[in-house]
Parts: sequence; structure tokens; C-alpha cells
Amino acid sequence: MKQYIKLRTSPGWDNLIAEYSEKIEALGAINYQVNEKYGYLDFYSIQYAPDADAVEIQRLIEEVNLISETICQGCGKPGHEVEHNSWIRTYCDDCFANWREGQAILTKSSQY
Ligand SMILES: [Zn+2]
Repeated sequence: MKQYIKLRTSPGWDNLIAEYSEKIEALGAINYQVNEKYGYLDFYSIQYAPDADAVEIQRLIEEVNLISETICQGCGKPGHEVEHNSWIRTYCDDCFANWREGQAILTKSSQY
């Protein structure tokens, strides 16, 4: 039974979330939150079962932090860290272009 709270994450990371949720739950993570930070995926606020392997769970989370920095959060293809208007994301070139376009529209419409 899944007990995690998924916050604002992007579709490109859904597979990573599913894979690592399963791994850390198998090791005894009961409740936790999933969110995107500055261009990477993080699992935190973890509640452990009494027999949980907390060290291994932390290792897996560090692993997924690093892997997420190489996967486009928009589409799941290989990506890299990008920055625009002081936001940091991990995107492939196509998704980065779309995102910048979206940001530009957002900036324009917010002037009215
Ligand atoms: Zn992409």
C-alpha cells in the first residue's frame, strides 16, 4: 500500500518515482514525500518501519537525486540542468525550448 505524498513533480520523472518508491518501500520506508527541487527529484520526510534499512534507503535516495539530474523532467529522455529566470530544471533541448516559450508568455501576460 502506497503512503507517499507526491507533490509538484513533472511527468518525465514518473518512471523514476515508481521505481524508487518500490525500492525504498521494500526496505521499510512507510510514509514519505516526493518533490522536485532545483532540477532534481527528491524523497524526504521519510518515516521508517522499525526494521527498515535506513542506510540503504538514504543511499537509494542519493542515487535517484543524481539520476534525475540526467533525465528530462518533461519527457523522460536524456536531459541536463538548465536555468531560466533563475529557475533550475532538468530538460532535454526540446522541452527546454518549450519551457522558455511558456515562461516568456507567462511574463508577458503578467504585465497586464
Ligand atoms: Zn524532454
